[in-house]
Amino acid sequence: MNQKIARFFEEQRPQTPCLVVDLDVVEQNYNDLHDALPDARIFYAVKANPAPEILALLARLGSAFDCASVPEIQMALAAGAPAERISYGNTIKKEADIRRAYELGVRLFAFDSDAELEKLARSAPGARVFCRILTSGEGAEWPLSRKFGCDLKMARALLLKARDLPVEPYGVSFHVGSQQKDLKQWDHAIFQVAQLFRELEVLGVDLGMINLGGGFPTRYRTDVPECTAYGQAIFESLRTHFGNHLPETIVEPGRGMVGNAGVIESEVVLVSRKSDEDPKRWVYLDIGKFSGLAETMDEAIQYPIEVVGEGMDDPDGEAVILAGPTCDSADVLYERAEYRMPSELKAGDRVRIHATGAYTTTYSAVCFNGFAPLQQICI
Ligand SMILES: *Cc1c(COP(=O)(O)O)cnc(C)c1O
Repeated sequence: MNQKIARFFEEQRPQTPCLVVDLDVVEQNYNDLHDALPDARIFYAVKANPAPEILALLARLGSAFDCASVPEIQMALAAGAPAERISYGNTIKKEADIRRAYELGVRLFAFDSDAELEKLARSAPGARVFCRILTSGEGAEWPLSRKFGCDLKMARALLLKARDLPVEPYGVSFHVGSQQKDLKQWDHAIFQVAQLFRELEVLGVDLGMINLGGGFPTRYRTDVPECTAYGQAIFESLRTHFGNHLPETIVEPGRGMVGNAGVIESEVVLVSRKSDEDPKRWVYLDIGKFSGLAETMDEAIQYPIEVVGEGMDDPDGEAVILAGPTCDSADVLYERAEYRMPSELKAGDRVRIHATGAYTTTYSAVCFNGFAPLQQICI
């Protein structure tokens, strides 16, 4: 429970739905991750929450930024980050956007295919490039599928090819999947990257950097390992596979940097049943899948939900189905996830959806059914 945010809601009573982010928590997360992995450079994944106040805070703390588009690069620059601290980490870029990023001073780019490498060679001469490899996504609550990355054989060929192009083959990246609770997943990937480094070294390509991606979790309804456990697991894995020859390391936390810093307050719009015998009440909120809670898809991410004045996930309460306010039948949040709420819950009551600092405002539709996008206030 974040007292600062609770006090803000009680004193200000903002229009709901509203996300309030506590910047002190973001700062704490940054410092914790920095302490857990003191040798790694932190590139905050801007897409998790690009609020200018968050970007400015992180820029001031010395963070670098992982951006997926030119507008994200511009946001990071506007927040005070120099271009040297920006990575264009999306492996899918229009060539015009590569050129624009290069003009803005960005010199670090990701790729995972031959065609993308060619674009970089043409439009970002002299830049450092890193190749993203596929991972299984096993153990992650929000896996990233096969959309990004290539297999090891292709990565080796592309990095070898890069040597003969006007770019610098700089390293390898991966992402073990978001909300990754299995510490061993980094070891699998680091083992493969170390192999790749050795094979390329024999061929005369000296890579200097390993980008360990994101995946650091936020605590939702169940516990997650401590930040220090991730640091330790990753450091031990690097030691095992690289010995004393540790490469430069980068991490790209998104969720782990801001998830637990935010709380959404929402109003109950309706409580109803579908028949007199219906065992479960339907609780409709003024926020749903299209106004910020997209990660409830398949009930993958289960936010802790508090009924204001009643506390968190009332074990004596009755089971409810939670849904959003839009006219789309997919706008159901939780049906199987067994949320319980007090029997006297009624329209006008407020609920707080905790750990919603990451991947909420950025997933909010502009105006579906005329509902405004999710409002955010940083304190
Ligand atoms: C989204 C993303 C991240 C952040 O992932 P989290 O699981 O939120 O930490 C990091 N790197 C890249 C390339 C991404 O696309």
